[in-house]
Amino acid sequence: MNYGENQQQKSSLVFKERRAKADIYAVEARSLLNKATGFMSAYDFTLNPYRGCQYGCSYCYAAAFSPDSEKRQNWGNWVVIKSNGVSILKQELARWQKKHNRPPHIYMSSVTDPYQPIEKQQQLTRELLAVMVTYQPVLVIQTRSPMIVRDIDLLQQFEYLRINLSIPTGSEMVRKDFEPKSPSIKSRLQTINKLRYNLAANDQHKIRFAVTITPLLPTLLKDRNKFFSQLIAVDRIVLQEFHPTRKNSLIASTRTQAIALKQKYAWWYDNEKQNYQQFKQSLQDQIIAWSSNTEILEGKTGFGYD
Ligand code: SF4
Repeated sequence: MNYGENQQQKSSLVFKERRAKADIYAVEARSLLNKATGFMSAYDFTLNPYRGCQYGCSYCYAAAFSPDSEKRQNWGNWVVIKSNGVSILKQELARWQKKHNRPPHIYMSSVTDPYQPIEKQQQLTRELLAVMVTYQPVLVIQTRSPMIVRDIDLLQQFEYLRINLSIPTGSEMVRKDFEPKSPSIKSRLQTINKLRYNLAANDQHKIRFAVTITPLLPTLLKDRNKFFSQLIAVDRIVLQEFHPTRKNSLIASTRTQAIALKQKYAWWYDNEKQNYQQFKQSLQDQIIAWSSNTEILEGKTGFGYD
Protein backbone atom coordinates (compact mmCIF):
# COMPACT_ATOMS: atom_id res chain seq x y z
CA MET A 1 0.00 0.00 0.00
CA ASN A 2 1.42 3.39 -0.92
CA TYR A 3 -0.05 6.59 0.33
CA GLY A 4 2.31 8.82 -1.57
CA GLU A 5 4.85 10.09 0.92
CA ASN A 6 8.28 8.58 0.83
CA GLN A 7 10.72 11.45 1.07
CA GLN A 8 13.52 11.04 3.57
CA GLN A 9 14.92 14.50 4.26
CA LYS A 10 16.67 15.99 7.23
CA SER A 11 14.49 18.27 9.32
CA SER A 12 15.44 20.61 12.12
CA LEU A 13 13.61 21.30 15.36
CA VAL A 14 12.20 24.82 15.32
CA PHE A 15 10.16 24.90 18.53
CA LYS A 16 8.23 22.84 21.04
CA GLU A 17 4.55 23.53 21.20
CA ARG A 18 3.70 23.25 24.88
CA ARG A 19 -0.08 23.22 24.76
CA ALA A 20 -0.27 20.38 22.25
CA LYS A 21 2.97 18.78 23.57
CA ALA A 22 4.47 18.52 20.13
CA ASP A 23 7.96 19.00 18.74
CA ILE A 24 7.74 21.17 15.65
CA TYR A 25 10.34 20.70 12.93
CA ALA A 26 10.86 22.41 9.61
CA VAL A 27 12.22 21.02 6.38
CA GLU A 28 12.92 22.28 2.88
CA ALA A 29 10.84 19.82 0.89
CA ARG A 30 12.00 18.58 -2.50
CA SER A 31 8.41 18.33 -3.70
CA LEU A 32 4.89 18.96 -2.53
CA LEU A 33 3.08 16.93 -5.14
CA ASN A 34 3.88 13.24 -4.77
CA LYS A 35 2.87 10.80 -7.46
CA ALA A 36 -0.21 8.97 -6.24
CA THR A 37 -0.09 5.20 -6.45
CA GLY A 38 -1.70 2.21 -4.75
CA PHE A 39 -4.67 3.18 -2.61
CA MET A 40 -4.55 6.70 -4.02
CA SER A 41 -4.14 5.73 -7.67
CA ALA A 42 -7.34 7.56 -8.70
CA TYR A 43 -5.31 10.76 -8.32
CA ASP A 44 -2.29 12.26 -10.03
CA PHE A 45 -0.81 13.45 -6.75
CA THR A 46 -1.10 13.38 -3.01
CA LEU A 47 -0.28 16.61 -1.19
CA ASN A 48 0.81 16.57 2.45
CA PRO A 49 1.61 20.05 3.82
CA TYR A 50 3.06 18.45 6.93
CA ARG A 51 4.68 15.22 7.95
CA GLY A 52 3.43 13.75 11.21
CA CYS A 53 0.09 14.52 12.79
CA GLN A 54 -0.74 15.98 16.18
CA TYR A 55 -4.00 14.05 16.36
CA GLY A 56 -2.00 10.83 16.80
CA CYS A 57 -4.96 8.49 16.33
CA SER A 58 -4.25 5.09 17.87
CA TYR A 59 -4.91 3.17 14.65
CA CYS A 60 -3.22 5.57 12.21
CA TYR A 61 -1.49 3.74 9.36
CA ALA A 62 0.50 6.90 8.53
CA ALA A 63 2.74 6.36 11.56
CA ALA A 64 4.40 3.60 9.56
CA PHE A 65 5.67 6.25 7.11
CA SER A 66 7.55 8.16 9.83
CA PRO A 67 11.13 9.14 8.92
CA ASP A 68 12.69 6.98 11.65
CA SER A 69 11.76 4.50 14.37
CA GLU A 70 11.92 7.09 17.14
CA LYS A 71 9.33 9.25 15.41
CA ARG A 72 7.25 6.18 14.67
CA GLN A 73 7.22 5.36 18.38
CA ASN A 74 6.39 8.97 19.16
CA TRP A 75 3.60 9.34 16.59
CA GLY A 76 1.24 12.21 17.44
CA ASN A 77 3.89 14.25 19.26
CA TRP A 78 5.82 15.75 16.36
CA VAL A 79 5.14 17.61 13.14
CA VAL A 80 7.42 18.60 10.28
CA ILE A 81 6.42 21.78 8.44
CA LYS A 82 7.34 21.88 4.76
CA SER A 83 8.52 25.45 5.05
CA ASN A 84 9.12 26.07 1.35
CA GLY A 85 5.83 24.43 0.39
CA VAL A 86 4.22 27.44 -1.26
CA SER A 87 7.06 28.18 -3.68
CA ILE A 88 7.54 24.49 -4.53
CA LEU A 89 3.84 24.02 -5.23
CA LYS A 90 3.77 27.06 -7.50
CA GLN A 91 6.62 25.59 -9.56
CA GLU A 92 5.06 22.14 -9.70
CA LEU A 93 1.65 23.36 -10.80
CA ALA A 94 3.16 25.67 -13.43
CA ARG A 95 5.15 22.71 -14.78
CA TRP A 96 2.03 20.56 -14.90
CA GLN A 97 0.08 23.26 -16.72
CA LYS A 98 2.75 23.53 -19.42
CA LYS A 99 2.70 19.80 -20.12
CA HIS A 100 -0.98 18.88 -19.77
CA ASN A 101 -4.27 20.16 -21.07
CA ARG A 102 -6.26 19.00 -18.06
CA PRO A 103 -6.12 19.93 -14.39
CA PRO A 104 -4.28 17.60 -12.00
CA HIS A 105 -6.27 15.48 -9.56
CA ILE A 106 -4.93 16.12 -6.06
CA TYR A 107 -5.69 14.40 -2.76
CA MET A 108 -4.84 16.45 0.34
CA SER A 109 -3.83 14.67 2.52
CA SER A 110 -2.87 11.01 2.62
CA VAL A 111 -0.53 10.79 5.65
CA THR A 112 -1.33 13.86 7.74
CA ASP A 113 -4.29 16.05 8.58
CA PRO A 114 -3.95 19.37 6.71
CA TYR A 115 -5.97 21.08 9.46
CA GLN A 116 -4.21 19.69 12.53
CA PRO A 117 -3.63 22.20 15.38
CA ILE A 118 -0.31 23.61 14.09
CA GLU A 119 -2.14 24.86 10.97
CA LYS A 120 -3.87 27.48 13.08
CA GLN A 121 -0.66 29.47 13.42
CA GLN A 122 1.24 28.26 10.35
CA GLN A 123 -1.58 28.69 7.81
CA LEU A 124 0.41 26.60 5.36
CA THR A 125 -2.62 24.67 4.12
CA ARG A 126 -4.41 27.96 3.62
CA GLU A 127 -1.51 29.35 1.58
CA LEU A 128 -1.38 26.20 -0.52
CA LEU A 129 -5.10 26.51 -1.24
CA ALA A 130 -4.53 30.07 -2.38
CA VAL A 131 -1.93 28.78 -4.86
CA MET A 132 -4.17 25.96 -6.06
CA VAL A 133 -7.16 28.24 -6.70
CA THR A 134 -5.20 29.77 -9.59
CA TYR A 135 -4.71 26.36 -11.23
CA GLN A 136 -8.11 24.86 -10.43
CA PRO A 137 -7.13 21.24 -9.80
CA VAL A 138 -9.73 18.61 -9.07
CA LEU A 139 -9.20 18.67 -5.32
CA VAL A 140 -10.21 16.33 -2.50
CA ILE A 141 -9.55 17.46 1.06
CA GLN A 142 -9.49 14.84 3.79
CA THR A 143 -9.69 16.11 7.37
CA ARG A 144 -11.31 15.61 10.74
CA SER A 145 -10.90 19.21 11.82
CA PRO A 146 -13.48 21.99 12.13
CA MET A 147 -10.63 24.40 11.26
CA ILE A 148 -11.46 23.86 7.60
CA VAL A 149 -14.35 26.34 7.86
CA ARG A 150 -11.75 29.10 8.29
CA ASP A 151 -10.95 28.69 4.59
CA ILE A 152 -14.47 28.84 3.18
CA ASP A 153 -13.53 32.03 1.29
CA LEU A 154 -10.95 30.02 -0.68
CA LEU A 155 -12.87 26.75 -0.89
CA GLN A 156 -15.78 28.45 -2.58
CA GLN A 157 -13.49 29.45 -5.46
CA PHE A 158 -12.75 25.85 -6.50
CA GLU A 159 -14.68 24.44 -9.42
CA TYR A 160 -14.17 20.77 -8.56
CA LEU A 161 -13.92 20.11 -4.86
CA ARG A 162 -14.75 17.22 -2.59
CA ILE A 163 -14.49 17.52 1.17
CA ASN A 164 -14.18 14.28 3.13
CA LEU A 165 -14.81 14.57 6.85
CA SER A 166 -13.43 11.64 8.85
CA ILE A 167 -15.85 10.41 11.50
CA PRO A 168 -15.02 6.78 12.28
CA THR A 169 -17.59 6.31 15.04
CA GLY A 170 -20.89 7.73 16.20
CA SER A 171 -20.00 7.23 19.87
CA GLU A 172 -18.07 9.97 21.64
CA MET A 173 -16.80 7.53 24.25
CA VAL A 174 -15.21 5.39 21.53
CA ARG A 175 -13.76 8.48 19.85
CA LYS A 176 -12.10 9.50 23.11
CA ASP A 177 -10.55 6.04 23.46
CA PHE A 178 -9.25 5.64 19.91
CA GLU A 179 -8.41 9.24 19.04
CA PRO A 180 -8.35 11.28 22.27
CA LYS A 181 -6.62 14.30 20.72
CA SER A 182 -9.05 14.74 17.83
CA PRO A 183 -12.09 17.05 17.63
CA SER A 184 -15.43 15.84 19.01
CA ILE A 185 -17.92 14.06 16.78
CA LYS A 186 -20.42 16.84 17.43
CA SER A 187 -18.01 19.50 16.18
CA ARG A 188 -17.30 17.50 13.02
CA LEU A 189 -20.99 17.06 12.24
CA GLN A 190 -21.49 20.79 12.78
CA THR A 191 -18.60 21.40 10.41
CA ILE A 192 -20.33 19.50 7.63
CA ASN A 193 -23.46 21.58 8.06
CA LYS A 194 -21.49 24.84 8.02
CA LEU A 195 -19.61 23.79 4.89
CA ARG A 196 -22.76 22.67 3.10
CA TYR A 197 -24.53 25.88 4.01
CA ASN A 198 -21.67 28.04 2.74
CA LEU A 199 -20.51 25.98 -0.23
CA ALA A 200 -23.59 25.21 -2.26
CA ALA A 201 -22.89 23.54 -5.60
CA ASN A 202 -24.06 25.27 -8.75
CA ASP A 203 -23.37 25.09 -12.48
CA GLN A 204 -19.83 26.41 -12.03
CA HIS A 205 -18.95 24.66 -8.78
CA LYS A 206 -19.16 20.91 -8.38
CA ILE A 207 -18.81 20.69 -4.61
CA ARG A 208 -19.23 17.30 -3.02
CA PHE A 209 -19.23 16.08 0.57
CA ALA A 210 -18.45 12.72 2.10
CA VAL A 211 -18.18 11.31 5.58
CA THR A 212 -15.45 8.71 5.73
CA ILE A 213 -16.11 6.12 8.42
CA THR A 214 -12.70 4.65 7.89
CA PRO A 215 -11.85 2.59 9.71
CA LEU A 216 -15.28 1.83 11.11
CA LEU A 217 -14.84 1.86 14.89
CA PRO A 218 -17.39 0.43 17.31
CA THR A 219 -20.56 2.51 17.54
CA LEU A 220 -22.79 1.81 20.52
CA LEU A 221 -26.29 0.69 19.56
CA LYS A 222 -27.81 3.57 21.52
CA ASP A 223 -25.90 6.10 19.39
CA ARG A 224 -26.45 4.51 16.03
CA ASN A 225 -29.73 5.96 14.79
CA LYS A 226 -28.85 9.50 15.81
CA PHE A 227 -25.51 9.18 14.04
CA PHE A 228 -27.15 7.86 10.89
CA SER A 229 -29.70 10.67 10.88
CA GLN A 230 -26.87 13.23 10.91
CA LEU A 231 -25.13 11.68 7.94
CA ILE A 232 -27.94 12.34 5.51
CA ALA A 233 -26.42 15.73 4.72
CA VAL A 234 -23.63 14.26 2.58
CA ASP A 235 -23.70 12.74 -0.88
CA ARG A 236 -21.36 9.87 0.03
CA ILE A 237 -20.52 7.73 3.03
CA VAL A 238 -17.35 5.67 2.84
CA LEU A 239 -16.94 2.56 4.96
CA GLN A 240 -13.87 0.49 5.58
CA GLU A 241 -13.04 -2.25 8.05
CA PHE A 242 -10.65 -1.49 10.88
CA HIS A 243 -8.39 -4.42 10.18
CA PRO A 244 -8.03 -5.51 6.62
CA THR A 245 -6.67 -8.99 6.12
CA ARG A 246 -3.08 -7.67 6.14
CA LYS A 247 -1.29 -9.15 9.12
CA ASN A 248 0.77 -6.04 9.64
CA SER A 249 -2.08 -3.52 9.47
CA LEU A 250 -1.07 -2.22 12.90
CA ILE A 251 2.61 -1.72 12.40
CA ALA A 252 2.96 1.71 14.00
CA SER A 253 3.92 2.74 17.50
CA THR A 254 0.28 2.61 18.51
CA ARG A 255 0.18 -1.10 17.99
CA THR A 256 -0.05 -1.98 21.68
CA GLN A 257 -2.53 0.78 22.36
CA ALA A 258 -4.79 -0.18 19.47
CA ILE A 259 -4.70 -3.85 20.34
CA ALA A 260 -5.54 -3.05 23.96
CA LEU A 261 -8.50 -1.05 22.75
CA LYS A 262 -9.65 -3.97 20.65
CA GLN A 263 -9.79 -5.98 23.87
CA LYS A 264 -11.79 -3.27 25.61
CA TYR A 265 -14.31 -3.42 22.76
CA ALA A 266 -14.38 -7.20 22.49
CA TRP A 267 -18.18 -7.10 22.08
CA TRP A 268 -17.48 -5.55 18.69
CA TYR A 269 -14.14 -7.05 17.66
CA ASP A 270 -14.94 -10.65 18.54
CA ASN A 271 -17.45 -10.51 15.69
CA GLU A 272 -15.95 -7.70 13.71
CA LYS A 273 -16.98 -8.78 10.23
CA GLN A 274 -20.54 -9.47 11.30
CA ASN A 275 -20.79 -6.15 13.15
CA TYR A 276 -19.40 -4.30 10.15
CA GLN A 277 -22.02 -5.90 7.89
CA GLN A 278 -24.80 -5.15 10.35
CA PHE A 279 -23.73 -1.52 10.63
CA LYS A 280 -23.64 -1.21 6.86
CA GLN A 281 -27.05 -2.86 6.44
CA SER A 282 -28.67 -0.62 9.07
CA LEU A 283 -27.18 2.44 7.42
CA GLN A 284 -28.44 1.31 4.03
CA ASP A 285 -31.92 0.69 5.45
CA GLN A 286 -32.00 4.19 6.93
CA ILE A 287 -30.92 5.76 3.67
CA ILE A 288 -33.72 3.95 1.84
CA ALA A 289 -36.21 4.93 4.54
CA TRP A 290 -35.24 8.60 4.11
CA SER A 291 -35.38 8.34 0.29
CA SER A 292 -31.91 9.85 0.40
CA ASN A 293 -29.51 9.98 -2.54
CA THR A 294 -26.51 9.38 -0.28
CA GLU A 295 -24.35 6.59 -1.70
CA ILE A 296 -22.41 4.10 0.40
CA LEU A 297 -19.05 3.07 -0.99
CA GLU A 298 -16.42 0.85 0.54
CA GLY A 299 -12.66 1.01 0.69
CA LYS A 300 -10.60 2.50 -2.11
CA THR A 301 -13.54 3.19 -4.44
CA GLY A 302 -14.95 5.62 -1.91
CA PHE A 303 -11.91 7.87 -1.94
CA GLY A 304 -12.13 9.12 -5.53
CA TYR A 305 -13.56 12.52 -6.44
CA ASP A 306 -16.36 11.08 -8.60
S1 SF4 B 1 -5.91 12.55 11.77
FE1 SF4 B 1 -5.43 11.08 10.14
S2 SF4 B 1 -3.25 11.34 9.76
FE2 SF4 B 1 -3.70 12.27 11.73
S3 SF4 B 1 -3.25 10.70 13.24
FE3 SF4 B 1 -5.45 10.59 12.78
S4 SF4 B 1 -5.64 9.08 11.14
FE4 SF4 B 1 -3.48 9.69 11.26
